[in-house]
Parts: sequence; C-alpha cells; structure tokens
Amino acid sequence: MPQYVVVPDNPKMPVAGRDYPKTWDQFLDWFPDDESCRRYLEDIRWKQGFVCPGCGEGGVAFQGTRGRWICRHCRRQSTVTAGTIFDKTRTPLRSWLAAVWYVVNQKQGVNALGLQRVLGLGSYQTAWAMLHRLRRAMIRPGRERLHGLVEVDECWVGPSPPNALRLTKKKQQLIEKRKAQRMIVMVAIEIKEPKGFGRIRLQRVTNKSEKAVLPFVMEVVEPGSVVRTDGSAAYRKLDKRGYRREETVIAGAEDPAHVIMPGVHRVASLLKRWLLGTHQGAVRPEQLDYYLDEFAFRFNRRTSRSRGLLFYRMLEQALVTGPVTYAQITRKRKHNI
Ligand SMILES: [Zn+2]
Repeated sequence: MPQYVVVPDNPKMPVAGRDYPKTWDQFLDWFPDDESCRRYLEDIRWKQGFVCPGCGEGGVAFQGTRGRWICRHCRRQSTVTAGTIFDKTRTPLRSWLAAVWYVVNQKQGVNALGLQRVLGLGSYQTAWAMLHRLRRAMIRPGRERLHGLVEVDECWVGPSPPNALRLTKKKQQLIEKRKAQRMIVMVAIEIKEPKGFGRIRLQRVTNKSEKAVLPFVMEVVEPGSVVRTDGSAAYRKLDKRGYRREETVIAGAEDPAHVIMPGVHRVASLLKRWLLGTHQGAVRPEQLDYYLDEFAFRFNRRTSRSRGLLFYRMLEQALVTGPVTYAQITRKRKHNI
C-alpha cells in the first residue's frame, strides 16, 4: 500500500502562467528537458524549500549532482522523486509531465495505447503502468464525505451476455463466461436542489448484501445525510447508523430507472460508456477500483475550467503518493475506497 502524507494547506492559490502552464505551447517552453521538469517538481514538493525526508530538517541541504540533495544534518541523499510514484522511474520526467498533461486535458481520459502513441513510448507495458501509477494519484486521502441528499445504488459493469435465439453449447459457455466477468459497482451521488448533481464516490463490491453496501455508505456519506435507496433490505439499518433513509417506491415497472434514481442512472451509463469506449471493455475485476478512482476524479472535476490547475494538483498529489511497484499494480487491491 502506498503511504500517504498529508498535503499542507497552501494559502496561495496556484496561478496559470506562473505556477502551471496555460497551454501546450507554454508547456513545451517550460519543460525543454528533464532538468527543468525536476526543478518544477521541486518547487511543488518543497514549496517552502527542501525538507529532508530522513530527519525532517529543512534548509540545511546542499545540492549534489543530478538533482540529488544532501542533508547537512543527517547526510542522507535524496531526490525530488524519491518516495513518490515517480520513484526509480526509468521514464524521463518530461514524459511523465506530458502524460499528466495529456490525461487531464482529454475529456474522456486516455488508454495505454493512446498514451504510448502520443508520447512515443517504447512499450505498451510502460504506458499501461504509467497510467496505473497516475491513477494512484487521483484519489485524495482524507477527502470529505458526501452530504445533503445522496442517492445510493448498485450497477453492473462488464460485458453483457450475447443475445442468443438458439442456445448452442458454445454460446451457453460464452454466456456463463461473460456473466462471471460482470462486476457490481456501488454508486453514491449528491443530488442538488432544485436540480443538478454534486460529487460522486464509487466502489466495487462482490455482492449486494448488507455486509457489502452498509460499509460503503458509512465510508462515503456523512452521517445526518438523507440517503435515497431502492427498497432493498440491505439498506434497512441506515436509520440506526445515523442516516435518514428515503426509500424510493417503484410503482410497478412503469417508472424507468432514470426517473427514480436519476443521479445513479446517469453515472452508471456514463461509466459503462467510458469503460467500453476509452478502455474498450478490457478492465479486469482486480483493476476496476483504480479505473473507478479515475472516473470519479474526472466526474468530480467536470466543471473545472482550468485543466492546467488539474495538472498542477495531480502532480502535487503524485508527489505525496508513495511508490508503487509493478507487482503491486498487477495485484488485487485489498482495502476499500
Ligand atoms: Zn536529514
């Protein structure tokens, strides 16, 4: 698990053209080589000057060669990328920064093949692992819970079983295989009055039981909020946990899902389209949570006018997110949210 460090509050809001590039042209201007990228990351990571990750002393380091900082106090050597998701990377920093720029500027995000092409990376695997590392930086630790009126429901993602008029044995097998690849995603979304949606939280669950759905709600929704759910008994105990449950009554089959749960319905259809479009439906269950993080990151910032600010924020976050090894990327996530 990556180790998180709390980002200190920065009273000064980053400014376009001073703290982050306004345009791609400016990006090219600012970052002609790895050296300029490294200095930029140092400015972001050590806003008040270098702080030794070994002893915590600030302002007592001298600079060695190739971006190394040597602490006068404890003699420890470090670099701006040590202990971050860029730790020990063999990919040039310039490619990393370009990847972040590309990721935040593409409305629908980017898949590994697309990233490999635009950055001219040697291998698909490199691009794939870069995107996975960046996804680790898309979730802010200690983020606040949703509040107000929150819709909560489950949706299915993954390949849909083929329609078959005549069920041959082969088709039956395909249907079973696809069913096994389907995944359940919990969706929570703030509903604004009189209209509009707020923020979302998503998480993969293995079933729709109380044991699966209650912890999700408690983790992502502030107690005291109104939680709108369907009639499922899995949500029965919400009232006892400090929430006000509003059960939607399904009046026969006449009311389509988008009328009863407009928020969840909207998110579910966007999510499915994104997984099928940008990622061509190739997301495996053990990776899904990270894709959900990226989807939520994009959705929650959909109204942000400044893509450049997102570039800055993502780098800020990447510099406080611990290293992730290739083995960790391909391993199943153990914790929730
Ligand atoms: Zn030190």
